[in-house]
Amino acid sequence: MILWLFACIPAEDIRTPPIIRGPQTDDDEEADVHEPSDSAIPGDTGLEDTSVPTPSELEICYPGPADDWSVCFPLVEYDSAWGADYAYSEPYNGSAQYAKPLRFLDLSAVDPDAALAENFVLDEFMQEWKGRYALMQPHAVETMQILRDRVGGPVTVNSGYRNVSYNAGVGGAEYSRHMYGDAIDMASSAASLSEIAGHCEDLDVGYVGWYETHIHCDWRNTPLDDALYGGARSGTATPPVDLGATLVPGLVWSAPAEGWDEGEPLREWIAYDAGGEVLTQATSRHFLPPAGTASLQVTVGREIVLNAAVD
Ligand SMILES: [Zn+2]
Repeated sequence: MILWLFACIPAEDIRTPPIIRGPQTDDDEEADVHEPSDSAIPGDTGLEDTSVPTPSELEICYPGPADDWSVCFPLVEYDSAWGADYAYSEPYNGSAQYAKPLRFLDLSAVDPDAALAENFVLDEFMQEWKGRYALMQPHAVETMQILRDRVGGPVTVNSGYRNVSYNAGVGGAEYSRHMYGDAIDMASSAASLSEIAGHCEDLDVGYVGWYETHIHCDWRNTPLDDALYGGARSGTATPPVDLGATLVPGLVWSAPAEGWDEGEPLREWIAYDAGGEVLTQATSRHFLPPAGTASLQVTVGREIVLNAAVD
């Protein structure tokens, strides 16, 4: 039934009120979820208009609580009148993986509590206060549910979609994948940061960022969603990262870092004695070498390894 409704909405009316398909809706619509093929054929209605875009071009679907991809939302076309909030930069290095999104969800017209997957609702990935128009790529949601299943407990999404100005406001990188709908910052009470990162690696992640408070995973090399990006793309994304760190000695050592745009990177310290044996290890922003330390090593954000002798 809902597919039929979309098919009959003139293009100029796409921003009309939310029509959300799935178990979050009332009983009448829920019945349709289980029998979509009966009513999804335009020919059955006698009202089809071949001049309007097909439903698949105007809506985006997610796995939903039953993993049957039945939870769909209308999309709106990008409008330059949205201004600086959605003024995406030209694609990084010409990479189509950094194409400007063509279509978005209008968060003022959808149910924030709609389940996009068994354990995730829409509001966890996209919040109106970070931008009325938002997008989250279905493959990212699907992957997050798989990750959550592997963790076997709650996975908290700290950050999903950010529009351009919100991203800039929080110090995000110019080409942060959060603006492209395939980046998630996450933590879990049921898994360590290291375990989460491992799950992301197993699930074909494009880039992992290690922070004190969360793991950033994005799927920048996974093909962009057709409904959101229009399908014109090629190549893989080169990660535009420029990271740096230095080791500062003292009674308490520190390792100031640059280029981690989402907070303090995770710092993992190891102290060695004169024989090269490990005295202690710690994960902390600062480090107090124990007595007998001859040298130490810090790994910053799993990207930069620094070593120093200790007097
Ligand atoms: Zn992130």
